[in-house]
Amino acid sequence: MNTSRVAIVTGGSRGIGRAISLALARQGCSLVVNYQSNEQAARQVVQAIATLGQRAMAVQGDVREPQQASALVEAALAEFGRVDILVNNAGVTRDGLSMRMSDADWQTVLDTNLSGAFYCIRAVQRPMLRQRSGRIIQISSISGVRGNAGQANYAAAKAGLIGMTKALARELASRSITVNAIAPGFIDTEMTGALGADQVQRVTEQIPLGRLGRPEDVAAAVAFLASPEAGYITGQVLGIDGGLGI
Ligand code: NAP
Repeated sequence: MNTSRVAIVTGGSRGIGRAISLALARQGCSLVVNYQSNEQAARQVVQAIATLGQRAMAVQGDVREPQQASALVEAALAEFGRVDILVNNAGVTRDGLSMRMSDADWQTVLDTNLSGAFYCIRAVQRPMLRQRSGRIIQISSISGVRGNAGQANYAAAKAGLIGMTKALARELASRSITVNAIAPGFIDTEMTGALGADQVQRVTEQIPLGRLGRPEDVAAAVAFLASPEAGYITGQVLGIDGGLGI
């Protein structure tokens, strides 16, 4: 019988999600690595987790679709029999000044970053309520805390995640399910890879710790919030930003 904790990481195939998947595997978790389109990247993460001696499966699914979010949880239950940890990490940006922002760019970012997280939480609640335990961790952003010009869509979605986190922390506390958010600053992934060298330099100058974050910096905080030791922490927003948000 499988007795290790089971974690679902949405967008677990690349960047921060990849690092989170590996960090949770190192903690002894079995992993469901969700991806949208890059199957090869997801398979590589599953392979890396197997090398760590843990079980993992890659599951394709678009979190914007409620049925696909439910199918993700069903796949985890079918394979591992339980779900202990959900990390809502899948996210996209479609930056642009609000005056010129298309309906599609507004909607895609809200659908992926905000609605997708809600659909996954709704689907995972039944097994967690039955187990009377669970850890839900939302990957928000400093943009959702402070705002960022050119990111009205993204900041709205990430701020929405924080409100959702606090509401659900209250709703689920009586069943020992904790809900927390992490607000990363600038983390070195493909998402920030589009920034030019001069932009990176300008951003770095504003970060007290003097460097961009690494995916592993975020993953370590997720691993802690997912751990049994973090059982008395709920409804919180933890900045992982090198001091940028001070
Ligand atoms: P990334 O490298 O672009 O990776 C995004 C991941 O999300 C990929 O695994 C992608 O899957 C998945 N994804 C995208 N749309 C999806 C959908 N509809 N359904 C399921 N999966 C989907 O991004 P990242 O930098 O690691 O960011 C991860 C999270 O951290 C995001 O929520 C982002 O907003 C947040 N964040 C990032 C930063 C930063 O500086 N990088 C800062 C603050 C917050 P495929 O590989 O299949 O496309």
